[in-house]
Amino acid sequence: MGDPIWSVDATLKAKGFSLSFPPSTYRGSIYPHGNRVTIEIELHDLTFVELPKVTLIDRGSLQEKTLAHLNADNTICYVGEAGLPLDLYEPGGSVLRILRETEIALERSFGDQAANDFEAELASYWGGAYNVYVALPPSTAKGIEHAEFLDIGTAETPLFMVVSTGKWKHLPTRSRRPIRIISLPNKLKYEPAFKSKSLAGIINWLGSKALIRDAIIAATAASEHIFLNSPNALIGWKPALPANLKMLQKAGSIRKAFLEKKVAKSLGDIGLERMIGIRFDLQTIVQRNLLAKTSLAGKKISLIGAGTIGGNLARLLVQAGAGCGEGFAIYDTDVFRPGNLGRHVLGFADIDRAKADAMASFLRGFHPDVQVRPFHRNALTEWNALERSDLIIDATGEYNVAIALNDLRMKSTRDGNELAILHTWVFGNGIAAQTFLNLKDNFGCYRCLRPIFDGPWRYAPVKDIKKLPDMAPAICGEAGYIPFAADAPVTAASLALRASLDWAAKRPGQRLRTITLDYDDGKDVKWTSPLRINGCPACGS
Ligand SMILES: [Zn+2]
Repeated sequence: MGDPIWSVDATLKAKGFSLSFPPSTYRGSIYPHGNRVTIEIELHDLTFVELPKVTLIDRGSLQEKTLAHLNADNTICYVGEAGLPLDLYEPGGSVLRILRETEIALERSFGDQAANDFEAELASYWGGAYNVYVALPPSTAKGIEHAEFLDIGTAETPLFMVVSTGKWKHLPTRSRRPIRIISLPNKLKYEPAFKSKSLAGIINWLGSKALIRDAIIAATAASEHIFLNSPNALIGWKPALPANLKMLQKAGSIRKAFLEKKVAKSLGDIGLERMIGIRFDLQTIVQRNLLAKTSLAGKKISLIGAGTIGGNLARLLVQAGAGCGEGFAIYDTDVFRPGNLGRHVLGFADIDRAKADAMASFLRGFHPDVQVRPFHRNALTEWNALERSDLIIDATGEYNVAIALNDLRMKSTRDGNELAILHTWVFGNGIAAQTFLNLKDNFGCYRCLRPIFDGPWRYAPVKDIKKLPDMAPAICGEAGYIPFAADAPVTAASLALRASLDWAAKRPGQRLRTITLDYDDGKDVKWTSPLRINGCPACGS
């Protein structure tokens, strides 16, 4: 292959483009819906890791209106949500693809889709000097409410957040001030008044509803920031008052009603320092990667064991909604020791802390609204509390714990819709990871996996059932343990997350799931739902 720039040069020239700036900025025409439009394409990276910049130079006969997919600096957004894969080995073809995608983007600006595109991108057209992370729960957003605007950055790195009044008191803030949130049930429309430089124009754009108008005036008189919370955008501003109003505001003796009247009369002179809100509430964060699928939010989950499996799993569960809207209980009797460092999510700062407590701090660090309750004690002695969970997860990997929990679960009067129990463990020296979900229905229980004590596992993912795992012997000050690298417990945690999400979606699927990692000693076991064993001491009649 020759120098890719020659291939690009030849391709663009064949399309009527010419070099406008050396070394690789070309100017030429494309034809959205047959209309001639002049663009410039700047090819600074022919590996396409950084995509070429395409700028609209002359819109020709395209209507004089703002175009969707056109940024303030006239660059064109030609890449859709799914990205744009380009062939490094066909640079000429890749450039043609970019020209075509640019045409399509401009064509969309004029199609039926244009209004939707504008609305979806509304916040990016709103503009603003900075982003604000808004952690208000969307479910409670209604009408007009007060919240707090936190400045928690430094002079060098500003960082602003909006939280419900009184929340996140533990965060060190430079300032904490009231802010007014106006929640709107309908999408904000992209209309000319949207760009207005004055508050009068913005109120006009919002449809001049008295309630909204009054709220904006009151907030402005009180020198509060304002945020609009709509289904398609979260945008806000700080009112910029003219000098005379600022003076009045500073003179503290002025009555509120008088100031509001003054503000109402000066709406055309009040400007906006715009800002864009980014949703930062826990509910949105845990849901955003799951599409419309059910998260674990609102489910009462109890995790037993915060070791290498449980630690990794706790983080995954919280990221999928555990502790969001409902308490997430973590039980562990252990203390975090140096020997745990090699395969745990916790680290140096947690040495000699109770694992349950250290995990709780770790998870609260994920997001301040995570509700986690650590218990540095034996979960089995607290069955009454545990039994009220929706889902109990046993991540201890200990046979005796699993069997004791299974026994309590099978004796419980709660049915499978009310209380599920999920066991997860590593087989042997990291040969495989397995999970088993028990819904107390017609399928087997945990004990059914190995109905005869000391007998063989029914679904052992090992070649030689008689071969025992290698143990690291107990040495002074540390217990004996089964050595395996972190891949197996992380796999067990991943399997358990998947089983939990399937359970939450009411599609529990196969109850016993296996992933084999070591094919020297291990073998595949098909995912299956084991049936009850006659004479099982736990679930047999
Ligand atoms: Zn059984």
